[in-house]
Amino acid sequence: MCYIWKNPTDPKEEVSLDTLAKLPSGFDNLNVSGGEPTLRTDLAEIIDVVYPKARITEISSNGLHPERLLPIIKKYPNIKVRFSLEGNELTNNQIRGEKDGYSIKVAGLQKLREAGGTDLGFAFVIQDENAGQLLEVYELTQKMGFELATSTLHNAWQFYKNDNYFYDRLKVAKQVESLITAMIKTYNVKTWFRAYLNLGLIEKILGHERLIECTAGTDFAFIDPWSDVWACNVRTDLPLGNLSRQPWDEIMNGGLAKKSIDKVAICKQNCWMVTTARTAMRSNLAPQLPKLNPLIWVIKNKLNVELGRGIRFDDYIDYKKVMPNPLVPRTSYLDVKEKGRLVKGRQTHEERYPLRSFMNQ
Ligand code: SF4
Repeated sequence: MCYIWKNPTDPKEEVSLDTLAKLPSGFDNLNVSGGEPTLRTDLAEIIDVVYPKARITEISSNGLHPERLLPIIKKYPNIKVRFSLEGNELTNNQIRGEKDGYSIKVAGLQKLREAGGTDLGFAFVIQDENAGQLLEVYELTQKMGFELATSTLHNAWQFYKNDNYFYDRLKVAKQVESLITAMIKTYNVKTWFRAYLNLGLIEKILGHERLIECTAGTDFAFIDPWSDVWACNVRTDLPLGNLSRQPWDEIMNGGLAKKSIDKVAICKQNCWMVTTARTAMRSNLAPQLPKLNPLIWVIKNKLNVELGRGIRFDDYIDYKKVMPNPLVPRTSYLDVKEKGRLVKGRQTHEERYPLRSFMNQ
């Protein structure tokens, strides 16, 4: 899914605490992601800096070093933590190339809960190799008392990969329906809106347009390891500025940002990642509330399910239209052995992101 590990950054070149301190307060959500955030030896200090700046602070981790998160959870019990989990034990360990990864993260999340953590869960990337286990993993995480965030294969420069496609789009998309129905059946309002987010994933899997237009550069932005700020983490032609050299307001109100935001308005990619989709689903007036379309979909389908009518997916999704995979064909990577290589002193965007073309459809 991702070759960031093959292209590690030199810690000396990575975004510093002083640079992150320049972020203003008042964000709705700040996600400390990677690569792998627990590899930063100063992660606890990073959280000290960003935590007061957002309503929700989140750490997205592979979950292989839960002990490094323990002191953070003890200090900030409501911090959101998600560990990557791609299926049952065998499938997770095979897809992620992790020895004992499954048991380390399940035990690790339980330890974080014992330490006081209140917003803990797993993150599952839906793909051909695990789509059949989606419902089983959802039910398991519910039994354990953890959340399950879902996303699906994307191509992005941040992943150093442009062949993240599906072998059988229709089959994978259909397997998401049962998760959506299970989520709507619950009595948890947040979970109903996660069901809508999964409806958007079906559109993404089939290659259709996004359910809601993207607002990259306006409602969210991405800071890369070199402190460069981008409208999103997919296209390499949407720069906003650099946080180590510029103040935040100058970046967001500058000419570069305006040019990139104009390109976002006509972007043809159909990304539906958790961060971008969740942001798109929120009201412009109050980010805790949903936009009208997700709200209507949730009310209508909750009623349908309660009345025993079920969700009529064909009313929302044109299953007859399944797009072919653009760019390059995907090959199986499950048994591939690869090595990472640290390249120091990468100065230009071209050196940092050698793959220039990333297409999501
Ligand atoms: S839709 Fe376009 S602008 Fe939005 S996240 Fe995807 S590539 Fe970026």
